[in-house]
Amino acid sequence: MALTTKAKEAFYYSDGWQKASKTYPIHSPATGETLLEVANCGADEATRAAAIAWDSFQSWKQKTAFERSDILMRWFDLMMANQEELARTMTLEMGKPIKESRGEVAYAAGFVKWYAEEAKRVYGETMPAHLAHKRLFAIKQPVGPVYAVTPWNFPSAMVTRKAAPALAAGCSFILKPAEHTPLSALYLAELWEAAGGPPGTLQILPCENPVPVSEILIADPRIRKLTFTGSTEVGRILYKQSAETIKKISLELGGHAPYIIFEDADLDEAIPEVIACKYRNAGQTCVCTNRIYVHTSIMESFTQKYTEAVKALKVGDPLNDDTDIGPLVDQQGFEKVEEHIKDALAKGAKIITGGKALSGLYFEPTVITNISDDMKLMSEETFGPVAPLISFETDAEAIQMANNTPFGLAAYLYTNDLSRAFKVSEALEYGIVGVNDGLPSTPFVPFGGVKQSGLGREGGHWGIEEYLEVKYISMGLPK
Ligand code: NAD
Repeated sequence: MALTTKAKEAFYYSDGWQKASKTYPIHSPATGETLLEVANCGADEATRAAAIAWDSFQSWKQKTAFERSDILMRWFDLMMANQEELARTMTLEMGKPIKESRGEVAYAAGFVKWYAEEAKRVYGETMPAHLAHKRLFAIKQPVGPVYAVTPWNFPSAMVTRKAAPALAAGCSFILKPAEHTPLSALYLAELWEAAGGPPGTLQILPCENPVPVSEILIADPRIRKLTFTGSTEVGRILYKQSAETIKKISLELGGHAPYIIFEDADLDEAIPEVIACKYRNAGQTCVCTNRIYVHTSIMESFTQKYTEAVKALKVGDPLNDDTDIGPLVDQQGFEKVEEHIKDALAKGAKIITGGKALSGLYFEPTVITNISDDMKLMSEETFGPVAPLISFETDAEAIQMANNTPFGLAAYLYTNDLSRAFKVSEALEYGIVGVNDGLPSTPFVPFGGVKQSGLGREGGHWGIEEYLEVKYISMGLPK
């Protein structure tokens, strides 16, 4: 089994590998079996971690950017050398189809490589002075120890998207991974240690109950930054908690992505993009489309071709190379999908294909029409393989419907009309717009949402700014 020795022995990672006083079980969503018992950290481990993060920050920030860059680059190399094992670990703990897990490891490693390079480009500025004897500078410095909380749906990439820029900037970093997926995070810590990462710079605190660990770390004034990826509901709680110590904060929250298919779209090209966007990770991503708007004139042909493509998707064991859709992550996620379908059917929706639970946590890929705005799937994240199709008449109507949500993470459109592509993407109130592109994420671009989808950006040169403070220095020379 592709699980790290340290995780198997119920260690967590702090200033070296440590034993927690308790453990909790990690289950495979594919089979229901217990994979192993992992360290279950609580208040004591969190208190200790804060002190270690503060101490390690003092020496880590003194290293040159070139030294930090070299360690990150070795971390990248080790991740790629262990791509298959990391991918299997991820698939085992949360059920992502193995071909997608391999892609996620490469994506996760991509952040490490990018920020290994970016560490060396944290430039300051000099400003022209208003007085002859003064010299004015702005320098950038690491914000301080960081506390990160990540979701289960990208167990590696959501970790490195935060840890790599933070460590590159000179911050120390404490991660509380999602309760379902500590194994990928612990694996990454083993590789960080092997890459020469100094003890205490990266700490991983798995726990079954996130609340005590989070409350201690967020209340601690030595922790200067909170970075969170997860639901809007939890983001709101942590945002409020962070107000007490005025932490610098980044929030990557939920989405409700619209996909608009205009009448000039080439359906043979559009449909594979929409399928990839909707069904990857069994629909369990923040950027998976949750509402597909199709121009009335092509609704019939789109529905027919789209349904054919959905029927061809292979549901099965996520460790098999040809599986397209694995299980949902847990019973709660599974019940939410069932509830959204039941609610839609009670309000007049019609299933075109799928709609039923299979055995275990598997759910049929589903296409559903006759949608109305009062259905739960039109306002809440379904986080499952369900595609509602809705028709529209005019561009203005499509934009209005797409923007009719408190979320603003990702939106998509398909068109061959250049002026429409510009006008619609500018009118969409979203942080990310995919034009003829259902998978826009990559490490060196700004990823993040507007409205209730979050604050800040991850990726690219924007991502490292989230871990830096600007210091203004005014120097008077003898007159
Ligand atoms: P979640 O909000 O339930 O949990 C996310 C993390 O928060 C987990 O580590 C969890 O243990 C922790 N947590 C939960 N309650 C907490 C509390 N009271 N105090 C402290 N920590 C707490 O989300 P999830 O189910 O793990 O992930 C799915 C959600 O994440 C979806 O809403 C999805 O859209 C969002 N997401 C957003 C992005 C993005 O980049 N914007 C990326 C991936 C996932």
